[in-house]
Amino acid sequence: MQKKEQLYEGKAKKVFATDDPNIVIVDYKDDATAFNGVKKGTISGKGIINNQMTNHLMRKLEEAGVPTHFVEELSERETAVKKVSIVPLEVIIRNISAGSFAKRYGVEEGIVFDEPTIEFSYKNDDLGDPLINDYHAIALKLATKEEIELIKKYAFAVNDFLKKTLLECGITLVDFKLEFGKLSDGTIVLADEISPDTCRFWDVKTGEKLDKDRFRRDLGNVEGAYQEMARRLLGK
Ligand code: UDP
Repeated sequence: MQKKEQLYEGKAKKVFATDDPNIVIVDYKDDATAFNGVKKGTISGKGIINNQMTNHLMRKLEEAGVPTHFVEELSERETAVKKVSIVPLEVIIRNISAGSFAKRYGVEEGIVFDEPTIEFSYKNDDLGDPLINDYHAIALKLATKEEIELIKKYAFAVNDFLKKTLLECGITLVDFKLEFGKLSDGTIVLADEISPDTCRFWDVKTGEKLDKDRFRRDLGNVEGAYQEMARRLLGK
């Protein structure tokens, strides 16, 4: 597969065309941003860990019946994925209160929910990714009703799989964000990444945060947290 021109550069990844019109290459960077790009920094080695962790989990999710964009890991930072048009919704699942949920509803972090929750944000940097409900997303033609139902089904299946897999590594899955894409034939697949950038991971025993909150909240040892997650999940 031949890497061609850069199509796009996002906050944490670059995307390149290939000689196959249905395949693109994602290239994971060490750049980190938070609060809609207001806080910027570098987390050394993050791109390698996020690439490898995402691919590991996407391979397993495919086996568990969730279709994904994953094709082939090409190098430490580069992966070939199916070309999709991203559904402009951030899909957030929560098992425990934290972050914007705790702030929005004026509750402490760490409340364990009886059932996981799901919410959507409209992916739009100019608007600051506002919270959106199903009806509004359908009205704005961001996705059809059927696509949203399928996305919800996949998102809860990802939660069941991730919660179990992480618990085996001594990690509590607090919450996470997913993005879905559409192939040219309309098939919905899981896209983007699953990493400490996009999930909250707490150590089961100590409650220590092992995710991007260490960067967002200036907790220190940010690199160490990413490395610890790689060690627990990938054995390296
Ligand atoms: N999240 C993300 N990208 C975003 C917003 C949230 O990956 O643009 C992830 C975040 O890492 C956390 C979950 O989604 O695991 C829920 O985030 P929350 O809504 O609490 O927002 P935050 O507190 O991060 O602003």
